[in-house]
Amino acid sequence: MLEIKGISASYGPTKVLHDISLKVEEGKITTLIGGNGAGKTTTLNCIMGVVKGQGGSISWKNKDITNLKTPDIVSMGISLIPEGRHIFPDMTVMENLELGAYKRKDKKNVIKDDLDWIFDTFPVLKTRYKQLAGTMSGGEQQMLAIGRSLMGSPELILMDEPSMGLAPIIVEEVFRVIEKIKNMGKTILLVEQNASLALSIAHYGYVIELGHIALEGTGQELLNNSEVEKAYLGL
Ligand code: ATP
Repeated sequence: MLEIKGISASYGPTKVLHDISLKVEEGKITTLIGGNGAGKTTTLNCIMGVVKGQGGSISWKNKDITNLKTPDIVSMGISLIPEGRHIFPDMTVMENLELGAYKRKDKKNVIKDDLDWIFDTFPVLKTRYKQLAGTMSGGEQQMLAIGRSLMGSPELILMDEPSMGLAPIIVEEVFRVIEKIKNMGKTILLVEQNASLALSIAHYGYVIELGHIALEGTGQELLNNSEVEKAYLGL
């Protein structure tokens, strides 16, 4: 389990996270929803050691990772799929996927099994494996970003707004894939502005407002919460 206890964070003099606490249970999807600038990306960057948290602690599988460097956090099985995907546009689909596995010490056939699973789950990556990644559609690039993360064989995947900029039908496909990844035993922390979809697949959710955790509950509880409905579900 990932556990954040009382973390704050600032950019220069501006405090943007105030005493954040949350838990991500193993093998489940947990979501963090909230509006623009609420502090979702900063929370993920604190977990990854990209932004230094103040006070509090972050632990993963009962080990304190609060002050570890990003590469060490990655090698403990945590992977971030950043907002905007950040695939390498001038490399092929296959090269992007191979890069995801470059630090693995597993036997080649284990890595090949993962690649086969990814190709089964995202047939478009198989048919386009020689294509330059930058020439693919937004939805295909999101699938590639997810595939590249999986090639690193992470246990915990942090996803930053995977639905961003995608047509509704593609968003639904991405969310189906996220559920499939959970069903293969991965743990997911999903940051989303698409609150209704995120809560509908999440075991548990947190609402962040102006750097504070304003509400928490099961996905279903938050979907039925009138404050969440008003502020995030457009009802
Ligand atoms: P969005 O969905 O718009 O990405 P978010 O919930 O992910 O929003 P953050 O990106 O974490 O929010 O931003 C939280 C606050 O910190 C915002 O007020 C933002 O303007 C500010 N901020 C983010 N990154 C920086 C930075 N590098 N330097 C200064 N301020 C920043």
